Amino acid sequence: MKLTTIGTGTAAPHPSRVSAAHLVEAGDIRLLLDCGSGAVHRMAHLGVAWQDITHVALTHFHTDHIADLPLLIMGWRWGQLPPRSTPVTIYGPVGTGALIERMAAVHGGWMLAPGFPVTVRDLGSDEIVRLPGGVELSSHPVPHTPESVAYSISEGNRRLVYTGDTGVSEALGDWSRDCDLLLAECSLPDDMAIGEHLTPRQVGALAARAQTRQLVLTHFYPPVEAVDIHAEVAEQYAGPTIVATDGWSTHF
Ligand SMILES: [Zn+2]
Ligand SMILES: [Zn+2]
Repeated sequence: MKLTTIGTGTAAPHPSRVSAAHLVEAGDIRLLLDCGSGAVHRMAHLGVAWQDITHVALTHFHTDHIADLPLLIMGWRWGQLPPRSTPVTIYGPVGTGALIERMAAVHGGWMLAPGFPVTVRDLGSDEIVRLPGGVELSSHPVPHTPESVAYSISEGNRRLVYTGDTGVSEALGDWSRDCDLLLAECSLPDDMAIGEHLTPRQVGALAARAQTRQLVLTHFYPPVEAVDIHAEVAEQYAGPTIVATDGWSTHF
């Protein structure tokens, strides 16, 4: 599997971090996890083949995770020649289908009928979706907004878990147990901690509970970048920890 962090930022405008977006490649699957503002142009800047994305999975409905979805579909239809002809499937928590219908009401009916098949699927809690090539996608509820979920993507004996936005959740740590890579949000420093996001120390505790082989951090509000993230994570998690940037990638 390969992970590329496309957007490691948040709702805060940032000179080098666009809003949330992460690409997972497994077999023939190219799965975009969240599609926040700036993600599409960032992929072009990085030389990431946005044309070849096969699936999109949204973690929740905050603007910094969904805003570029209309632009991505528009790019597939009008931003390349010839236009896309291959199908795409968009997953998300319950309410995703209704959300995208509302988006299409604003942007135009082309969003759901752009000339190639667009399938939108609401995922039930802990539902497992079997994608082509033996790749499995499943979601798990997390404490952030009522609809928010984390995702697990597995292929063979490899497994990645993406927290999306989340507060502290021991259940998420247990659900992530023994994953090869935990892609976790790391939003705020201790003195700004809130129940809907994680601090570096809370991420360290999550990674330790999950016993992940590798921790990759994303979703940084600017104040958390001023603290020693590695040191605070390492108080509880001893494994390799990456403070990701837009364009960072790894095979695992
Ligand atoms: Zn967010
Ligand atoms: Zn959020």
